[in-house]
Amino acid sequence: MTSARQTAVITGASSGIGRETAIALAQAGFEVVLGARRMERLAEVASETGGRAHPLDVTDAESIEAFVAACPKALDLLVNNAGGALGLDTVEAGSDEEWLQMWKTNVLGTARVTRALLPAMRRAPRAHIVVLGSIAGFETYSGGAGYTSAKHAQRALTRTLRLELLGEPIRVTEISPGLVETEFSLVRFHGDRERAEAVYKGMTPLRGEDVAQCVLFAVSQPAHVNIDEIVVRPLDQATATAVHRR
Ligand code: NAP
Repeated sequence: MTSARQTAVITGASSGIGRETAIALAQAGFEVVLGARRMERLAEVASETGGRAHPLDVTDAESIEAFVAACPKALDLLVNNAGGALGLDTVEAGSDEEWLQMWKTNVLGTARVTRALLPAMRRAPRAHIVVLGSIAGFETYSGGAGYTSAKHAQRALTRTLRLELLGEPIRVTEISPGLVETEFSLVRFHGDRERAEAVYKGMTPLRGEDVAQCVLFAVSQPAHVNIDEIVVRPLDQATATAVHRR
C-alpha cells in the first residue's frame, strides 16, 4: 500500500462544477479541501466527500491567507474553479462594480490562490494546476464583455503559468466549457430564476458532472502528459451564440 492519499484543493466547491469536481476527485481517491463563501453549502459537500471545508473569498487577501494556512503543506492538485459572471450589459451600459467583481474573482482570484499555494505544490513530488476557464476565454458575445474580458485574461494567466513553470513537475490545464447548467446563470441574473432557466431552454446543456469528468481525465494522465486544454460544449452548442433549440 502507498502511504498518504493525494491532496486536492478545489475553490468554489459549494455548487455547480466545483461541487461535482470535488465529488469526482474524492471518488478517485483524493483527499479534498474545499473553499467557498457559503459555508452551509460547503459543509454539505464536505460530508458527501469526506473532505474538509474552509471559508474562502478569493477576492479577499486575508481570507486567502487564512484558507491557505488550513491547506495541506504538500499539495498535489489545485482546481481554480471559483468564478462566474454578473449581468449581461453592453459595454456602454456596464457597471464598474460588476466588472470589478468579475475580474477580481476570475482573474485576480486565480492568480492569488495559485501564488499562495505554489509553495505547497512545490513540496509535493509533482503537482497539477487546473483552471476553470470558459469558451468566453476565446469567444465574445454582445453583453458579455465584462465576463469575456475576465475569462480572456484568466486564459492569458493560465498560458503564462505554463511557460513560467516549464522545467518544474507542475502541470497546467485549462478546462473551457460552453453552457453548463449550474447556478451560473442564476448568479449572473441576480437570482432571476425565469431569466436563468431561459438560457438552457429547448436545448440540453452540460451538467457539472460532465465537466468534472474532464478534470478527472486531465488529472489521471501519466505524469509526463500535460493536457493543455479541454474545450467541451453541449452537442447543441457550436459557439457562444450558435445554440440549437427545439
Ligand atoms: P456556480 O454554480 O455559480 O458556482 C460558482 C462557485 O464559485 C460557487 O461555489 C461559488 O461559491 C464560488 N465563488 C464565487 N465567487 C467566489 C468568491 N469570491 N470566493 C470564493 N468562491 C466563489 O457556477 P459554475 O458554473 O459551477 O462555475 C464554476 C466555474 O466554471 C466558474 O469559473 C465559471 O466561470 C466557469 N464556467 C461556467 C460555465 C457555465 O455555463 N456554467 C461555463 C464555462 C465556465 P460561493 O458563492 O459559496 O462563494
